[in-house]
Amino acid sequence: MAGEEAFVLDPWGTSHVKDYDRLMKQFGIEPLTPELAKRLPYQHRLVRRRLIFGHRDLEMIVKAIEGGTEYAVMTGIKPSGEFHLGTKLTSEEFIYFTSLSPKARGFFAIADLEAYADNKIPLEESYRIALGNLMDMLALGLDPRRVYVYRQSEEMPVLRLAFIFSRAVTYNTLEAIYGPRPFGLYFSALVQAGDILNPQLPHHGGPKPTLVPVGADQDPHIRLTRDLAAKYRDEFGFLPPAATYHRLLRDLTGQEKMSKRNPMGILYLNEPLESARVKVMNAFTGGRATAEEQRRLGGEPEKCVVFVELLSAHFLEDDKLLEEWYWDCKTGRILCGECKARAWEIIGSWLKSHQEKRAKMRDVAERLLEEKTLG
Ligand code: SF4
Repeated sequence: MAGEEAFVLDPWGTSHVKDYDRLMKQFGIEPLTPELAKRLPYQHRLVRRRLIFGHRDLEMIVKAIEGGTEYAVMTGIKPSGEFHLGTKLTSEEFIYFTSLSPKARGFFAIADLEAYADNKIPLEESYRIALGNLMDMLALGLDPRRVYVYRQSEEMPVLRLAFIFSRAVTYNTLEAIYGPRPFGLYFSALVQAGDILNPQLPHHGGPKPTLVPVGADQDPHIRLTRDLAAKYRDEFGFLPPAATYHRLLRDLTGQEKMSKRNPMGILYLNEPLESARVKVMNAFTGGRATAEEQRRLGGEPEKCVVFVELLSAHFLEDDKLLEEWYWDCKTGRILCGECKARAWEIIGSWLKSHQEKRAKMRDVAERLLEEKTLG
């Protein structure tokens, strides 16, 4: 890679990836090939549309699905705010992989220690936010009988693992992976390694293939944990965690990552419909400077947030309709105003239905948080 600047991935900040092939090459991420994707019992929209672009050791999970043996799917969400499109993506991936076999078990860590280390959110406040996040996940289709839910700050086996791991990691290693950071974030990275390997501890049935679906920017955590799994293999029998990687999507204004710093760019799942509508109608598009130009040259759907981020990544399931939409734009048959109004009909009705489902999930979410499992 002479002459090319190496990628620096920041799991706590804004990472921007233009060239996914180069990213995969630099960090040794395998592409998700059509052959491997075809072996999944069904292909989720995120797989069909290549939003999940790469993996590490996914083959191990596919074999467990094919062989009907146990595997775990692990995710952690930092309860720093309401669910938005970014968290929806990771959650859908988690729910999808958990649904692919009756032998799959989900592990959901509420990363309250990380929320404190990174955003200074008190643990009690995390609980309230986590409850809302869990209601969203249940409304998105999470089966409460197949998931183990816990808060990092209360999960003693995870904290114990983090402490054990701290013996094998030097400050220099953490600095090389994450750059210079406050020690709290380094410690929360070790806690996350504990989260990822938690499903393989004896009280959860011992070593088993474990999949962690993440955004590309979370790869530093995966690399650290795979390294720790190898170092502690003799003691715990850990298998290296597998991972799938999804693309980092832009926010509604076309900025590189959804962040609370740009409120017009972030779409919350629980957002009042009128404010969501205003955001969608103001989203960044691939439209031309004038209507005449757009009719003549067509729009640029590949550059358009409405097309790429909203319809393709999130709200339009039907591949055929999506393709027709693409060509309506590309050939100038539709202009952005009408297109956004059409998109809003789909998005608004999705949000309305999600919010109705979500409102009914409070009791189950509370019970899950208290009892950890309903299975
Ligand atoms: S017509 Fe629609 S898809 Fe095409 S650029 Fe405009 S908003 Fe985007």
